[in-house]
Amino acid sequence: MSPDEFRKHGHAVIEWLAAYMEGVENYPVASQLSPGDVRARLPEHAPEHGEPFADIIEDLDDIIMPGITHWQSPNFFAYFPANASPPAILGELVSAGLGVQGMLWATSPACTELETHMLDWLVDLMGLPEEFRSSGPGGGVIQDSASSAALCALVAARHRASPGDLKVYTSSHAHSSIEKAVRIAGFGDDALRLVDVDDDFALRPDALAAGLASDVAAGATPCLVAATSGTASSMAFDPLRPVADICRRHDAWLHVDAAMAGSAAICTEHRGFLDGLDLADSFCFNPHKWLLTNFDCDCFYVADRTALIDALSVLPEYLRNQASDSKEVIDYRDWQVPLGRRFRSLKLWFVLRSYGAEELRAMIRRHVELASSFASWVEASDDFELCAPVHLNLVCFRHRGGDEVNHELQEHLNSSGKLYLTHTKLNDRTVLRMSIGQARTELRHVAAAWEQIQAAARG
Ligand SMILES: *Cc1c(COP(=O)(O)O)cnc(C)c1O
Repeated sequence: MSPDEFRKHGHAVIEWLAAYMEGVENYPVASQLSPGDVRARLPEHAPEHGEPFADIIEDLDDIIMPGITHWQSPNFFAYFPANASPPAILGELVSAGLGVQGMLWATSPACTELETHMLDWLVDLMGLPEEFRSSGPGGGVIQDSASSAALCALVAARHRASPGDLKVYTSSHAHSSIEKAVRIAGFGDDALRLVDVDDDFALRPDALAAGLASDVAAGATPCLVAATSGTASSMAFDPLRPVADICRRHDAWLHVDAAMAGSAAICTEHRGFLDGLDLADSFCFNPHKWLLTNFDCDCFYVADRTALIDALSVLPEYLRNQASDSKEVIDYRDWQVPLGRRFRSLKLWFVLRSYGAEELRAMIRRHVELASSFASWVEASDDFELCAPVHLNLVCFRHRGGDEVNHELQEHLNSSGKLYLTHTKLNDRTVLRMSIGQARTELRHVAAAWEQIQAAARG
């Protein structure tokens, strides 16, 4: 494809995406296809000769689109938001076009320096602890996901810990990525301690303290505690300050996973959960969930980068260079698992500059307000009840008729294509989750969803 053809098809693809944005509300939210439907329509072998670009776009419409679940629909209330936005898409496009590998400062200085700078900007914007700023011993890096951030935190924690029988602690409501990190890092399933939660599904510091004490008494070494600010299941917030105090007493690394909720800290009134974060060793949140920056973009901060870099730095001769030897630059390959890395900070830069902090705050506030309206409707209803404290943009609720009724309700609503909801289990009961965080979601979408939920329940 020549630059001229690229120009022509590129314009057409942007046109296609703009039309998608305008019409995304009209698609059935969850794809209604069955397993194998997409593959059945694809040729068995790759083409021997190039095909016209128009044919590819035609198949995009015919074959791919029916198999899309529309995360960008304003009626998407499942899992968590995964917002794309026009400036983020354009930043991503530039990143793809430049095709830069940002593993070392020397392999593209701008890739490293813009990333460092964006992560410092976010320290300001979110009121994060000064320890996370790059000017001190700490600093931030963009990971592909919160799962990778957890793994890097764990590997750094192990590097810092005294050798021994290492244990890892997290609440029974923590994200599965913590358990996965423990497994990948080779700690063995025995090393993971799931700590009890309170009535609001937040980690109980007394249970954590007891767990550490009993392990220490048995000769084991607490290595890392993973606290969650905003659990995936019900948006519970573990109390960071008491958890941090326990970690300090035992020299255990404290990692704070705020993958979903973290973005809310750009609003001063939603910063309460940061209390105690200044005592944490690492922290992560996902702009790819709730800050209009399309996947992948997880911001991962450490209060002291020494252990992380010492744990992950391996320097073969072919990567040696003057800038790295001078120790005056950051080489982000030492802050992550892979060597290669994309220029992800471009899309964050495009987003922060295009919207400005005020507009991002307004979006978060709108979603929080919509969730609170939805919660008030549930509370006022005779047939439904709230199942967890409502924090930020998530409402956990259920029909009073029991698990079976809620499963059928979910099934019925999702197959209607008008909205998409997922569920969780709280206190062994099936609970529906209304996660409100799509950029286009307005009051009318949430109100219509509530109408449909009630209508479905009436049968
Ligand atoms: C979404 C989520 C994760 C996983 O995020 P990835 O970036 O997809 O790995 C982890 N923890 C919490 C609390 C989450 O909400």
